[in-house]
Amino acid sequence: MESKLPQLGTSIFTYMTGLANQHNALNLSQGFPEFDAPALLKQRLAHYSEQGFNQYSPSSGITPLQQQIAALVKRNYQLDISASDTVTVTSGATEALFVAIQAITHPGDEIIIFDPAYDSYEPAIELAGGRAVHIAMQAPDYAINWQQVAEAITDKTRGIIINSPHNPSAKTLKASDFSALKALLVKHDLLLISDEVYEHIAFDDTPHISVLTDPELFERAFVISSFGKTFHCTGWKMGYCVAPPALATEFRKIHQYVTFSSFTPAQLALADMLTEQSEHIDELSAFYQQKRDVLVKALQSSRFTILPSEGTYFLLLDYSAISELDDMAFCEYLVKEVGVAAIPLSVFYQNTPDDKVIRLCFAKEDNTLIAAAEKLCSL
Ligand code: PMP
Ligand code: GLN
Repeated sequence: MESKLPQLGTSIFTYMTGLANQHNALNLSQGFPEFDAPALLKQRLAHYSEQGFNQYSPSSGITPLQQQIAALVKRNYQLDISASDTVTVTSGATEALFVAIQAITHPGDEIIIFDPAYDSYEPAIELAGGRAVHIAMQAPDYAINWQQVAEAITDKTRGIIINSPHNPSAKTLKASDFSALKALLVKHDLLLISDEVYEHIAFDDTPHISVLTDPELFERAFVISSFGKTFHCTGWKMGYCVAPPALATEFRKIHQYVTFSSFTPAQLALADMLTEQSEHIDELSAFYQQKRDVLVKALQSSRFTILPSEGTYFLLLDYSAISELDDMAFCEYLVKEVGVAAIPLSVFYQNTPDDKVIRLCFAKEDNTLIAAAEKLCSL
């Protein structure tokens, strides 16, 4: 059979977690929490399944969850949205991203993405018959050069995908980025996909800027989030997309034939969690900031250069003072010889940069972070 994605192999997350397990290494590679989901969430999941809520839910999601998502949007971003017309519950942000990309991309269309880019964007664009146009953000500050973006726009450009807080760079977009972005979207009549899965993990009292805070941006946007990140339940694969009604209609046409609907007991449990324990969300940034600080402090005496982490649960380390190896070889050495698994940054680029940078996930218990840092300090 002729492959539709000939250049693609196994994802780096599968590869590195596999290596970490094989070598019994501390796994700071794939991004997932070492700690469990809140007790209430787990209890309610079991409860609703036990009570017989085990059949399909409405394709766009159960009403109480849509309403709680709308209430969260109102509380955090002061935007009034109609839950029934704008909120679609999905099977993870990955599904939402895939569906939004299919909805906007016609064969031959170009979608602008920023490298280092999360790995699911480009395959979804290609499967829609489009082409990803990569614009590199440069280490160490990973800022977007908006002039370069302006120059990359052609009459085939259909949309732009942004991600803030950003995986893997851990940088956040600033107000000036949003002004530049808006000017380009309006001038060229482009659509926006905003991957905000780390929206509740922003550090140093700098609030996350959501596309949902700006009605003019939201008018042309699909805003995507993930309960996996927010409630430490990445394995549930639950997320959602908020989009204005006309865009949500197109989104739903595709969503209904990708999954039709998402896991019913989980939707009911998440609606309860948002209703009864929304303070979990308010406390998440401080929770992860403490983890970041534990890891940074424990690495202080190492020979790595620690890059700033403004959000997400990732930290970048520059190892150019330690090794001449390329980042994939360095990560393989780390997992096999040092006992720590990390992610090489070059896999998120179209054109491999010379940077010697790796990503660590700090969604781990403090003792895991300290043990990993001790090993890294020996280099
Ligand atoms: N976007 C980004 C930037 C992510 O880091 C992730 C999760 N690793 C996703 C999307 C996918 O989220 P989910 O697990 O809910 O599909
Ligand atoms: N998003 C997670 C990360 O960046 C991994 C998700 C996955 O394994 N697909 O590490």
